[in-house]
Amino acid sequence: MRIRREDVDTVRERSRIDEVVGEHVALRPAGVGSMKGLCPFHDERTPSFHVRPHVGLWHCFGCQEGGDVISFVQKIDHLSFVEAVERLAARLGMELRYEDDGGRPATGRRDNVGQRQRLVEAHRVAQQYYAEQLVAAGDAATGRQFLLTRGFDGEAANMFGVGFAPRTGEALLRHLRAKAFTEEELLASGLAAQGRRGLYDRFRGRLLWPIRDLAGDVVGFGARRLFDDDSIEAKYLNTPETSIYKKSQVLYGVDLAKREIARTGRLVVVEGYTDVMACHLADVPVAVATCGTAFGTDHIRIVRRLLGDEGRLGTEVVFTFDGDEAGRKAALRAFDEDQRFVAQTFIAVAADGMDPCELRQAHGDEAVKELIESRQPLFEFAIRSTLAQVNLDTAEGRVQGLRMAAPVVARIRDTSLRPEYARQLAKWLGMEVEAVTRAVIAAGRVRAQGGDGRSDGRPEGRSDPRDQRGPGPGEPQAQPARPRLPRSSDPVVRTEREALECLLQVPRLVPAAEADALPGDAFTVPAHRAVHDAIRAAGGLAVATAVTPQAWLEKVRGNAPGPVSDLVTELAVSPLPAQSDEALGRYATGVVLHVAELELTRRIGELNSRVQRLGSGDDAPEAFRALMAAEAARRALQERRNA
Ligand SMILES: [Zn+2]
Repeated sequence: MRIRREDVDTVRERSRIDEVVGEHVALRPAGVGSMKGLCPFHDERTPSFHVRPHVGLWHCFGCQEGGDVISFVQKIDHLSFVEAVERLAARLGMELRYEDDGGRPATGRRDNVGQRQRLVEAHRVAQQYYAEQLVAAGDAATGRQFLLTRGFDGEAANMFGVGFAPRTGEALLRHLRAKAFTEEELLASGLAAQGRRGLYDRFRGRLLWPIRDLAGDVVGFGARRLFDDDSIEAKYLNTPETSIYKKSQVLYGVDLAKREIARTGRLVVVEGYTDVMACHLADVPVAVATCGTAFGTDHIRIVRRLLGDEGRLGTEVVFTFDGDEAGRKAALRAFDEDQRFVAQTFIAVAADGMDPCELRQAHGDEAVKELIESRQPLFEFAIRSTLAQVNLDTAEGRVQGLRMAAPVVARIRDTSLRPEYARQLAKWLGMEVEAVTRAVIAAGRVRAQGGDGRSDGRPEGRSDPRDQRGPGPGEPQAQPARPRLPRSSDPVVRTEREALECLLQVPRLVPAAEADALPGDAFTVPAHRAVHDAIRAAGGLAVATAVTPQAWLEKVRGNAPGPVSDLVTELAVSPLPAQSDEALGRYATGVVLHVAELELTRRIGELNSRVQRLGSGDDAPEAFRALMAAEAARRALQERRNA
């Protein structure tokens, strides 16, 4: 299912890129129709991030990132293409239509975006209401006390939007009904549950943490039991699965942490809401927690997007556990998953079995930071915590340790890592490397035969089929490396670039006949030629002058193969030198005619040598006439340029 093409185009056209970008970057005018500011995607002191509002494009001349308003939202908020379009549509108050791959109207989860907006709005109102109750309601003293005894004052509660659900069972319902939410919406939101005598508040007499999505919208709540007479025994209660809340896809704290995660390349996964709070307050602003479920493959996908995808070296995902046993079990469980993540995975366990929240209370902020710094690589942790179960001071203990740890090493799917961990294991055991290596190989053989019951039948070394997952609906295809525009002071290279900038940005000021007559080889730089090809494929000046500037660039970008479309963006956003329309017209005419003249000059050179080669042969008069025609054309061009 995907968003209808026309709707994507409408969202792109109607969204004001200077406003959307302006929410993240302070922009100031930079020449005609252009604005600039400090790039949000790389560190810089002088602005090289340019936006051209009337064509809806942006480009950074420092880090070479660029695109349209949708790609900006994707990048800045770490959203998928579809999510970014939905977010912009919501901003415009526009309802999107969806279709299946055959172009037929589709129904389903994404069908009802209007409902999504209503449910998000209900949660926004509920969060505000609950937060007010934490301060105002008499019963809430128990909740405030709970926070205080864990080291969280009013300011901390405020920062995370913590709230209190009154015990009556219909306080929130009344509040939401008064705001004109329908019974269906209340039920669909998960904020209300269905009883025998109608709806009632799902959360009653509990302390509430709002759970936000990546974009910062509240989509659910986590609720902690406070009162002994609470009829629900569970210590924690979460929003049930709804159309906007999927527990396998939410990470508590991710809205606060995403910028720092992207900046530092590190992410810390803790176990509870209070641990996330403790970490952020202790200056570990990259902490998140899953909500009532284990860390799974959907979470991995989100984390990879936040960390900036594959290929970035030195990224770390640190899992904290409040005890060796819990940590060991979790580490071993990671072996059963696809291990894609494993090179970046670390485990941190507090020495005295405390979680980050308890650690902060007992020993202060520094202790939380030290816990994270004490992390160990996942494999090392799994092997060492296995060894911790035996007494290595005795020969029997060491043999037992080898028997237990060798299968752990054998389960490392990346076979190139096994010899190194076999060496490490030998060191920890105080045994010969050869003996340990033999034990690991033997354990691997048992495993391959399915002897340990864990073999998944997948050949070693083959990657998970999910890696080959194609792009999701509406997501752009993965792109090959982007060609670079040369930054040369060579006058020909510069003129070509300037002419392309004019053809893209001010087609109405360019001499149309001469521009459309430029042949395929008029541009000598391959990257320039690729852009020119896209301009020609988009219909050339005839089309350029018939549609809006934005539509023209969309057409050219649409006719450019993946990486070339980035070049189009860059050229479309480059500042033009002239300040007035009149001066710009002279400049645009000048550079385009100059490119035509350069092409003619090259052609004349070739014709000249051809004429000389042919001497007085049969073809000579024909070649001579062609030479004369080219020279006449060049003279005419020169006269126009000098006029
Ligand atoms: Zn940049």
